[in-house]
Amino acid sequence: MPNLRVRLGGWIREGLGEGLAAALPQHCFVCGARSGTWQFCTDCSAALPRVEVPVCPVCADECGGGEVCGQCLLSPPHFDRSTAALRYAFPVREWVQAIKYQARLDLARDAVRCLQAHLAPADFDCIVPVPLHPVRLAERGFNQAAVLAAPLARSCGKPLLRNAVIKDRLVPPQAGLDREARRRNLAGAFRAERRLDGLRVLVVDDVMTTGATLNELALALKAAGAAQVSNLALARAMG
Ligand SMILES: [Zn+2]
Ligand SMILES: [Zn+2]
Repeated sequence: MPNLRVRLGGWIREGLGEGLAAALPQHCFVCGARSGTWQFCTDCSAALPRVEVPVCPVCADECGGGEVCGQCLLSPPHFDRSTAALRYAFPVREWVQAIKYQARLDLARDAVRCLQAHLAPADFDCIVPVPLHPVRLAERGFNQAAVLAAPLARSCGKPLLRNAVIKDRLVPPQAGLDREARRRNLAGAFRAERRLDGLRVLVVDDVMTTGATLNELALALKAAGAAQVSNLALARAMG
């Protein structure tokens, strides 16, 4: 019963992770040095790949002067804004993969801290984590986007709409596909389960790659009446 074991481990870690991890001295995820209550030591924390270059406010990709990029002008996405806390590069990539594929939900606590620094509660009414297909959810035992979104919603007192949208089509892996192929691959993957009339939605995800998934999700949210869709991702693959 590997799935159940992973899931139980996930729940236990999710439940106990915050309190225990805060109480125990941490070791740096990168170099193993003592790192206080943070999962990166001072040096490795300073070296995290932050988003320092000007980025497009719509898709959060690198863009010379920080204005809306050519891609977003040419083919405007269904979402209105995107923010990423970090770039998807070493050691953020390894950090995200450990959370997602090794069920290291204890490592999600500091990801939430990173996201919190970019949270503007006045700008949204509710939070939607990017949904996983039920088959993927059963395999993994948890939805990493919901693991990040739940404490964010608690911290700002906004509702977390876990089931507002479902992913009702199992999409083949996106890795290795170009932008257009990803878009085709995802068409119609999400379906809203309730009306969201007039709501400003904040979508939370772990990684934003080309934005194809978030674009398809925003389409479903807007079709359900959402007035505005903003994305907040822990990490963005640039370029
Ligand atoms: Zn370190
Ligand atoms: Zn853009």
